[in-house]
Amino acid sequence: MIIPEEGKSKLEILEELKLARKNDARWEEGRIFSLVFHFSEEHSELVKNAYNMFIHENGLNPMAFQSLRKFEAEVVQMTASLLNGDMNTVGCMTSGGTESVLLAMKTYRDKARKERGKRYFVPEIIVPDSAHVAFLKAGEYFDIKMVHAPVDKYGKVDVKAVERRITPNTVALVGSAPNYPYGTIDPISELSNLATKYNLNLHVDACVGGFILPWLEKLGEDIPPFDFRIEGVTSISADLHKYGYSAKGASVILYRSMDIMKHQLFVSVNFPGGIVMTPGLTGTRPGGAIASAWATLMGLGQKKYLENAKSLSEIVKKLKEGIISIPELEIVGEPQGPLFAYCSKNPDVNIYAVADIMEEKGWHIDRQQKPASIHFMINPLHGKIIDEYLRDLREAVIKVKENPYLAKQATAPVYGMLANVPLRGMVESEVRKLVEKIYMNTTSDINLAEQNTSENGLTIIKKLLGYFLKNKK
Ligand SMILES: *Cc1c(COP(=O)(O)O)cnc(C)c1O
Repeated sequence: MIIPEEGKSKLEILEELKLARKNDARWEEGRIFSLVFHFSEEHSELVKNAYNMFIHENGLNPMAFQSLRKFEAEVVQMTASLLNGDMNTVGCMTSGGTESVLLAMKTYRDKARKERGKRYFVPEIIVPDSAHVAFLKAGEYFDIKMVHAPVDKYGKVDVKAVERRITPNTVALVGSAPNYPYGTIDPISELSNLATKYNLNLHVDACVGGFILPWLEKLGEDIPPFDFRIEGVTSISADLHKYGYSAKGASVILYRSMDIMKHQLFVSVNFPGGIVMTPGLTGTRPGGAIASAWATLMGLGQKKYLENAKSLSEIVKKLKEGIISIPELEIVGEPQGPLFAYCSKNPDVNIYAVADIMEEKGWHIDRQQKPASIHFMINPLHGKIIDEYLRDLREAVIKVKENPYLAKQATAPVYGMLANVPLRGMVESEVRKLVEKIYMNTTSDINLAEQNTSENGLTIIKKLLGYFLKNKK
């Protein structure tokens, strides 16, 4: 495709945009349990207005747009106070949780190199197996050795195992509040004790929890402290574009003091284009994302966040009760807050086959591995679907139980295979080929990626099965 010779009319384009959406996930109907965080129509209007008002402004140069500097500073202050920081707490806004995590990891690498006077040693950071994939990305990007620590049966990191993994090259520990796969909160105060004992940094990944756990705690739920109240915590990431309900492209990374954050900041005085100083990974920073984050915190206020947390809690409670009332299913670990996963405890019920049937019924299902499970992130729109979801789920479980062949159909065997095959290198190279293929497309046919996916899915199974059988003999 090429840029049209002559631009189309606004009407025509808006029509095309609308049309392109027709196969998208129907999040407005509460049929998807990830990716979209929607508070209310009224709130969306505010976010859009604020975003549009600053759509052209650039947060790259805080001197030029003092409005954006003010919004960013106040967003950081409000977030710091929510997470019990003090006058020394500092931070900045980033494009999202991944950038916040990448920055924290880079900061600890550079801080350690500076403190130890060793430019080229490979620092080690200990992360729970349940930590977000952004930590692995940080390891790849910044040449940090990410050392994995297992989680216990409750889905929380095993602190003894963390301690055993500490070496002279360890520079930081990581805990999640909560982690994405299970929604469980790692024992942050125990990690803090280790961090203090061994003089290590401790990052708390509250990307998904930062703007929901504090409200649940205020409502009296038994949420263990995970923030700057815990002495050893040196940094926290918290996403505004998740339970903060701001527009996409907004997260906060906080540090206990500038002494730590200074290792994050980038300064170059030799670029012909001028002296450059940036806090994060990006150059240009969208004014809209910064302004709408500020507008969101100011517009919702503590009261609406609290009310929302209360109703999410009720939705989660009903869903969990409904799920555990199905004898074949159980909740994974001991999740707290609005995200959790459930799995099958009956070998005759393949959870991926259940997922396939749920998708036939029009739900967008997030499948997980380790263990094979289905993931939920609950938002206000899900209040209206609880009964329908649970009814469909009960039916799906019965159908899978009565028709064992379903576990060998549709996506169930692909996921089962991909999750269980021990040859991870081979799985990775197949998935790499797939992603290359998706980005190779030079056509605008939106279904092509999908076709390639299923076609490749099949190729993957065939190859893996072939390999597997050959090597079994
Ligand atoms: C979402 C998430 C991230 C990454 O955030 P993005 O905004 O998707 O880049 C990191 N950690 C946790 C626990 C998350 O849930």
